[in-house]
Amino acid sequence: MALYSAAAAVLEGLERGDGGIKTLVYNSRFPHVRQLYALVAETLRYSPVLEKLLAGAALLQAEKKLPLQLAKVLVYDLLFGKGLKCGGRWKALARRHRARLEAELARLKVQQKVSRNEDLLAPAQAASPGASQVPRYVRVNTLKTCVDDVIDFFKRQGYSYLGRAASVEKLRALSGKKFLLDLHLPELLVFPPQTDFHDNVLYTSGHIILQDKASCLPAFLLSPVAGSHVIDACAAPGNKTSHLAALLKNKGQIFAFDVDTKRLATMNTMLMRAGVTGFQLAQQDFLTVDPGDPKYSKVTHLLLDPSCSGSGMVTRVPGEEAAPSPERLQALAGFQRRVLSHALSFPALRRLVYSTCSLHREENEDVVHAVLQEQGSAFRLVNAFPSWPCRGLAAFPGAECCLRASPADTLTHGFFVAVLERCGEGAAAPSILPVAAEENLQQGEGTEPGAAPKKRKRKKQWVKE
Ligand code: SAM
Repeated sequence: MALYSAAAAVLEGLERGDGGIKTLVYNSRFPHVRQLYALVAETLRYSPVLEKLLAGAALLQAEKKLPLQLAKVLVYDLLFGKGLKCGGRWKALARRHRARLEAELARLKVQQKVSRNEDLLAPAQAASPGASQVPRYVRVNTLKTCVDDVIDFFKRQGYSYLGRAASVEKLRALSGKKFLLDLHLPELLVFPPQTDFHDNVLYTSGHIILQDKASCLPAFLLSPVAGSHVIDACAAPGNKTSHLAALLKNKGQIFAFDVDTKRLATMNTMLMRAGVTGFQLAQQDFLTVDPGDPKYSKVTHLLLDPSCSGSGMVTRVPGEEAAPSPERLQALAGFQRRVLSHALSFPALRRLVYSTCSLHREENEDVVHAVLQEQGSAFRLVNAFPSWPCRGLAAFPGAECCLRASPADTLTHGFFVAVLERCGEGAAAPSILPVAAEENLQQGEGTEPGAAPKKRKRKKQWVKE
């Protein structure tokens, strides 16, 4: 029940204008922020439909003590979500009204001449489908387990494993209790949209991380070898930090910074659960971190995922700022340029990944271009992951070296990634990237659905960029 009351409290806060959805979700202190965010976002998206159903079924008249927002959350999960997971009086209440609510839903569909729940939404809400079309990506936490063991676990839970996906279309076609290995990232499993693993023991024990595919790109492309010293400059809530730790095999050192105390607290819990060691977490403005401090003299890799407009997040909800104002965009871009410049001033730095979940060129290609120009010939843009289908906007010559991601093209949240490397003396040794994915794309290799999945040896293949 805690989830439902937390979601109702966030909805009430939104209505009072106490803040945006993200702020209210983080302030709620609910331990599973993503689960809470998703429930609030989807309830809001369905809000007009829920109001019609509540009115049609006269639920609030029958249950005088049931607050409106709580009613919406309960009915959303009952009819459109995963089914109510609470016990006690809310379950009893739902049972009492279930038949009536289902009849109202059926009536509404007949009235609107539609067959799918999604089609009940207004075009604007349907056009921004939230998480509903983006698959559930599951990153295997190799600090605690391996891909084969996780696959076996899900098979035992009744899921059918279809092997490695041959194309994005295979991911799009996933349904029911089926799952695939991603075609680009070696430790990423893909399940149908809306699959909920927040209560799954593999998630609660930190063996799997629920992380969008695009958000796995930065650490994967930074690709630090075990033993490296790495900075995660804007780190909370820490998904990319835990991914970095997995790539480092917990060998080396991660210096992680963030300014937000609450997000840092969440991050600390998450890193502990994921079995991450060898990290120093600091509540500090990264712009005030001294690159000359001997502590950072061996930092060769840096991941910079700064605050941004978030315009690529597909769980945008009514009432949330859809497009940032020109002033906000300018302020964000100014901060992003400063923080990228600062990041490049660490003396031993060889490789840096800059990423945002923004769709705006001002926060992406323009930031990278401005800072590269200011650096002269000290750093260059790396043509990372050449076979990734979605490239940077043609904002400057070479911008196609950057990566973009979108629900339509890559079945992920909207995202931007640029990889920068030092030129000349002190440059990165020819960087090595795990390229199982590259080879898959080029050779069209992929286990066909239905074929018995081969036992993969965990031997890594490497290639020079
Ligand atoms: N990389 C994180 C992850 O994968 O979980 C997400 C980072 S989020 C996009 C941006 C973060 O930057 C926020 O947690 C915000 O508090 C933090 N931040 C903003 N300004 C900062 C600054 N000057 N120094 C350090 N962190 C900052």
